[in-house]
Amino acid sequence: MNNTDYLIATKNMKKREELQRILAPLGIRVRLAEELGLELTDVDETGVTFEENALLKAKSGCAESDLPCIADDSGLAVDALNGEPGVYSARYAGEHGNDALNNETLLKNLIDVPFHLRGARFVSAACCVYPDGRAYTVRGECEGTIGLEPKGTGGFGYDPIFLPTDVSAEDELGRSMAQFSDEEKDKISHRGKALKLLAQRIGDAI
Ligand code: IMP
Repeated sequence: MNNTDYLIATKNMKKREELQRILAPLGIRVRLAEELGLELTDVDETGVTFEENALLKAKSGCAESDLPCIADDSGLAVDALNGEPGVYSARYAGEHGNDALNNETLLKNLIDVPFHLRGARFVSAACCVYPDGRAYTVRGECEGTIGLEPKGTGGFGYDPIFLPTDVSAEDELGRSMAQFSDEEKDKISHRGKALKLLAQRIGDAI
């Protein structure tokens, strides 16, 4: 067990829930900014890659807390849209974090694209920055297809229109990620994969 406390830097409550849920069983003790009496600065996500943005967020959180800080930058890359919305996933429809509008916009932009050409992947870059300047960045991906309409109420973001294809044979039902249990999502998700790799890197480094 690692005795260090790690700050998780995100203001997205759903993402934060996933980070806590995935990291705790991996032996990473996480703290939230509020528990430390901190109000983290909103970081401008000026990077052109998920990795650059994750590093910006983790660096800022580390500088403001003096704790090792873990941040994730994530999004959806759709093949038929040349990888869009990518790093702009949270603000695809113009307004930051409006999940329903983002989903509607994406479905509209894919209206003429047949099912077999709607391939996509969720990507998560997870980064840990230490007060001594060390930084570890890893990536996890989850393959899928963009559905024809939203389904399910779990998860967040694009989950209702994302049909994972990394699933076991019993999942021939074409469920969306929003119809998966938390445990099922964490097992195959981009964030689950990235955080497992990150926990390994952290474990190797201490
Ligand atoms: P970030 O906070 O800049 O990393 O933006 C992430 C955005 O990507 C979210 O607002 C969602 O729109 C999307 N996203 C990332 N991870 C997921 C996920 O696990 N499910 C659904 N959407 C996600």
